[in-house]
Amino acid sequence: MLDFCLPDMTGLEFLDELQQQKLEMPLPVIMLTGQGDERVAVQAMKRGVQDYLVKQYLQPDTLQLTVRNAIQQSLLQKQFSKIQHQQQLAAAIALRIRQSLHREQILQTAVSEVQQLLLCDRVVVYQVDEKVSELYLTKLCETGLTSYTDPIAKFTSFLRKNYQSSIEEIGGATTFRKAKASIILSENRKKNQQAYLVVPLVLNNQGESTKVWGLLVACLGSNQRQWQTDEIEIFNQLARQLEIAIQQAEQFRQALEVSETQKQLNAFKSQFVSTVSHEYRTPLASILAAASTLKQHGDTLDEAKNQQFLQLIEDKARQMSQLVDDLLIIEKFEFGKAKFTPLPFELLQFFADIIEEQRQTLSDRHRLIFKITGNTKGFWGDHKLLRQILVNLLSNAIKYSPDQGNIEVHLMGNDSHIIFEVKDEGIGIPIAEQEHLFQTFSRGSNVGTIPGTGLGLAIVKACVELHGGEISLESQEDQGTKVTVYLQKKLASE
Ligand code: ATP
Ligand code: MG
Repeated sequence: MLDFCLPDMTGLEFLDELQQQKLEMPLPVIMLTGQGDERVAVQAMKRGVQDYLVKQYLQPDTLQLTVRNAIQQSLLQKQFSKIQHQQQLAAAIALRIRQSLHREQILQTAVSEVQQLLLCDRVVVYQVDEKVSELYLTKLCETGLTSYTDPIAKFTSFLRKNYQSSIEEIGGATTFRKAKASIILSENRKKNQQAYLVVPLVLNNQGESTKVWGLLVACLGSNQRQWQTDEIEIFNQLARQLEIAIQQAEQFRQALEVSETQKQLNAFKSQFVSTVSHEYRTPLASILAAASTLKQHGDTLDEAKNQQFLQLIEDKARQMSQLVDDLLIIEKFEFGKAKFTPLPFELLQFFADIIEEQRQTLSDRHRLIFKITGNTKGFWGDHKLLRQILVNLLSNAIKYSPDQGNIEVHLMGNDSHIIFEVKDEGIGIPIAEQEHLFQTFSRGSNVGTIPGTGLGLAIVKACVELHGGEISLESQEDQGTKVTVYLQKKLASE
C-alpha cells in the first residue's frame, strides 16, 4: 500500500525508483490517493500499480477485495512471465537440437538441455524395437543421475496399451498423441519413489505410416516436487522438436548411404570395364592369330596342326564365355539383384556329382578325395548358389596345385549346420594378401602364369552370405590352402 504523500518524496517518485530497481518479479502495489485526485491515480496505474484506493471512501470489504485482486493479479503475472521465459528457452533449445544432422549429437544435446531446463534428476532416450509383436527398449542416451533403475516394464506396458491399440487399430499417431501425449508414472508416489514423465517419439516413415521410434523420459527424484502442467507442456513440445531432428538425421543418413553405394558402384563399373578389356585381349589375340593362320595356311597344314589350332580357338572362346558368365553373376550381386531360393537338398548326391564333374579336369598326378562325416540330412539351400560355391572352390584347389597333390573335400554335418572344407597342397597364398582375396578382381601375387580374373572367391563369398553362412580361409605359401564354409541347415525365417 503506497501513499501519495511520503515524508521525503511523492508516491509517484517512489514508483519510479522501484522501477529503476528492475526487480525480477515486480511487487504488487496498491496506490492510496486523496479524494478527487484521479490524475495521480492514472499516473500510478501507468507506472504499473495493480489498483488504487481513494482514502475517504475506504471500507474494510473494498480494501479486502482490492488486496486480494492485487495479489491474484501479481501471481498470474508471475506465472505468465515464467511461461514466457520457459517458452523462450524452449525455442532456443529446439534450435540447438535441430542444428545437428547426427543422431548421437542430437540426442546428447536434447537430454542435457531438457535436464537443465526442467531441473530434473535424469533424462533418457530409449529406442523401441519391435520383434515378433514384442516390444524392446534400448537405452540410447542418458544424462543426470544414471544410478536409477528405470521401470522399463511400466514403459513397455504404457506403449503396448496406448501405442499398439491406438496406432494400429484407430490408425494414425495423431489420434494417439491426442489421446495420450505423455504419462506420469507414480503420480501418487510414495516416499522414495521417482516421478517419471514419459513421452513417445513418433516418426513418419516417408510420409506413409507413423511409428513409435522411441521414448523421451524425464525423472524427478524421490523427495522432489511433482511435475507441473507447464513443464509437461514444454516437455512435449521439445519431444516434437526432437522427433523432427531425429527424422532429419535419418534422412541425411539414408542420403549418405545412397551416395556411398553410388560411389562403390561407379568404382566397380570402371574396374569392370578395364578388367573386361584387359582379360579379353589375351584370348582374343590367340583366337585371331589361330584363325588367320588357318585361313592363310589351312590347306598346306597337316590335319593334326589344323586340329590344334581349332582346339585353341575353342578353349580360348570357352575361357571368354566363362569370364562373361562370372561377370554377369558378380554384377547381379553388386547391384543386389541376386535371388536366393532355398529348397530341400540331397547333399551327398549333389557333392558327388560336382566332384565327378571336376575330376574330368584333373591330371593323373592329382588325387581327389571326398569324405563325409556326421548328419548331413535336413539342409535347405539354393542349388545354383551352392553349385557356384563348390565349383569355384574346387577349381581353385585344382588350378592352384599345378604340380601335383591331394585335393580333399570334406563334408560334415551336425544337428543345425553343415560344414565343408576344400583342401589342397598347392601354391598357397601369402598371409598379407589373404584378407583381400574375397574382393572382386583381387589375385595373389604368387599366381605366376596361372590364368584367372579374381572373381571366383567374391562370387563364393556372396553366395555364402545369401545363405546366411560364413566362410574362412587358412593358407600358407607353398604349403596349401584350406577353405571352410559354414551353413545353417535352415534359416531362422523359414
Ligand atoms: P577366377 O576364379 O575368377 O577365374 P581367380 O581364381 O584368380 O580367378 P579367385 O577364385 O577369386 O580368382 O581367387 C582369388 C585369388 O586367390 C587367386 O587369384 C589366387 O591368388 C588365390 N587363391 C584362391 N584359391 C586358392 C588356392 N586354393 N590356392 C592358392 N591360391 C588361391
Ligand atoms: Mg578362382
